[in-house]
Amino acid sequence: MLLELKQLKKQFKENHVLKGIDLSVNKGEVIVIIGPSGSGKTTLLRNINFLETADSGTMAFRDQQIDLSRPTKEQILWVRRHTAMVFQNYNLFKNKTALENISEGLVFGQGKSKLEADELAEKALDQVGLLDKKGFYPSQLSGGQQQRIGIARATVLNPDIVLFDEPTSALDPELVGTVLHDMKQLADQGQTMIVVTHQMSFARNVASRVAFFADGEILETGRPDEIFDHPQHERTQQFLSAIA
Ligand code: ADP
Repeated sequence: MLLELKQLKKQFKENHVLKGIDLSVNKGEVIVIIGPSGSGKTTLLRNINFLETADSGTMAFRDQQIDLSRPTKEQILWVRRHTAMVFQNYNLFKNKTALENISEGLVFGQGKSKLEADELAEKALDQVGLLDKKGFYPSQLSGGQQQRIGIARATVLNPDIVLFDEPTSALDPELVGTVLHDMKQLADQGQTMIVVTHQMSFARNVASRVAFFADGEILETGRPDEIFDHPQHERTQQFLSAIA
């Protein structure tokens, strides 16, 4: 087991957004989280890497046991060093080139020399087929290209787990496939990932397990065929028939 959340709770004022999430992730698994908008999926990811702090709950990650409501500074840094996040809106530095966006974390986060960081960044760009764009700024790239650079930036750090927050939902439909292709390639390489997405074909084809999320709870978890072909919970059935 790589990561295990127990009873993660989070509320914003009187809004109980996460009502006690239990989730375990094994090394090499692709966990895909589906469910209605506003149900707390993004908040869950943000609590895992401490972009938000939970009200209660624990997280076991590698050999560390962390109280999610009272993480130490060291624990926060440690978790961030071993995880990476890919955002809906890419979050690239606008005044840095594609290459610099990727190499930055290697130099400042991991203390690599500029030369070594550039070499690794070039390799990562090559993997997503964008080496020829290394000197381009985000504004000179399509949304799909920016997101592929977002993925390269995340994976170049060699994280134990990559958290994807609706990585294709800001993209024009014709660009979605290229990003999903990169994500599938990563999954095939054994990268552990948690993916929040509305792309049901990705969930069906790539997920090791699918978790259906509604109203701040995971209502059911199972293999893709179990969730898509034989959903047990009425809410899951409703959700799937509404989007079909
Ligand atoms: P999803 O990803 O499933 O669409 P979110 O996690 O983005 O859902 O949001 C769940 C709920 O939490 C929503 O009602 C949203 O308004 C609320 N929420 C999220 N972040 C904050 C915040 N920083 N402050 C207040 N409310 C928030």
